Amino acid sequence: MMQAQLAQQAPAGSAAPLLEVRDVSVVFGGIIALNGVSFDMQKGHILGLIGPNGAGKTTLFNCLSRLYQPSKGDILLEGASILKRPAHKISEIGIGRTFQNVALFPNLSVLDNVRVGTHARTNSDIISDSLKLPWVRKGEAAINKRVHEILGYLDLHDVAHTIVAGLPFGTQKRVELARALAAQPKILLLDEPAGGLNHEEVYILGDLIRRIRDDHGVTVLLVEHHMGLVMSIADHVVALNFGRKLAEGTPVQVQNDPDVIKAYLGSKDS
Ligand code: ATP
Repeated sequence: MMQAQLAQQAPAGSAAPLLEVRDVSVVFGGIIALNGVSFDMQKGHILGLIGPNGAGKTTLFNCLSRLYQPSKGDILLEGASILKRPAHKISEIGIGRTFQNVALFPNLSVLDNVRVGTHARTNSDIISDSLKLPWVRKGEAAINKRVHEILGYLDLHDVAHTIVAGLPFGTQKRVELARALAAQPKILLLDEPAGGLNHEEVYILGDLIRRIRDDHGVTVLLVEHHMGLVMSIADHVVALNFGRKLAEGTPVQVQNDPDVIKAYLGSKDS
C-alpha cells in the first residue's frame, strides 16, 4: 500500500503538476476532435496551446472549463478529477477563464462586472446577505477592497463606473481578465486573448499576462493563434494537430520541431 502511494508521488526534485490532462478524447458524432491527449501543467507556468485550424484546441479548452465532457480520459487539478464539477462551479475550485469574443454583462458597469467575479469566493447566503449581518459587512468590505485593487492593477479605475458595452474591445478584454482574477484562480484559461487586438495591444497584453503570473502566482493556459505572443511569453508549449498531441516542449523546441513545421506549412495558419 505504502509502496503504491510512493510510486504515485512525483520524483525527487520535480514538483507535482498543478493540472494533469490524462489521455483525453472527445468524439462528436463520427468526428474525433481529441484523440488521447496527455500533458501536465506546472504551477506558475504559462502554457501555450497551439495548432492549425481544427486541431482540437477549443475542444480541449472547453473540456478544461467543463463545457464539454471527455468521452475518455481524465483531467486532474491538484490530483483531483474536475470532471464531476459542473461548468458553473469551476471558479470555486480555482479555474478562471476568459472568452474569445468577451462574455461580460454589457449593461453593467466595469465595477459590477468585476464584482460578479468575486462571487465564487464568498460564502454568505441570501438570509445573512439581506440582514446585513456583521460577517456579511466585513466580507463586503474585503470584496470592495479586492475589486478596487484589481481595477487599479489592470488600469481600469478611470472606467470603473462606465457601462461595459460602450468600451473599446481591448478594454473589455481587460475587464474580463479583471473579472477572472477577482475569483482568485489557481489557473487562468485564456481563449485567444490576442484576437481582435492590434500589434501594440498584443504586446501590452503579453506583458500583462506575464505580470499576472508573476504578481498573483496564477498558472496560465493560453490558446492562441498569434505565434509571436505564444512564443514570447510561454514557458511550455503543447502543439496539437488533428486531435492528437504533435509536440511539446519549450517554445524554441516546438518552433523547430519538424512535425510542427510541416503541420503549419500545410495549413491556412502558416
Ligand atoms: P480553430 O483554431 O479553427 O478554432 P481548434 O483547434 O480550436 O480550431 P476545434 O474547434 O477544437 O479545433 O475542432 C476540432 C475538430 O472537432 C474539428 O474537426 C471540428 O470541426 C470538430 N468540432 C468541434 N466542435 C464540434 C462540435 N460541437 N460538433 C461537431 N464537431 C465539432
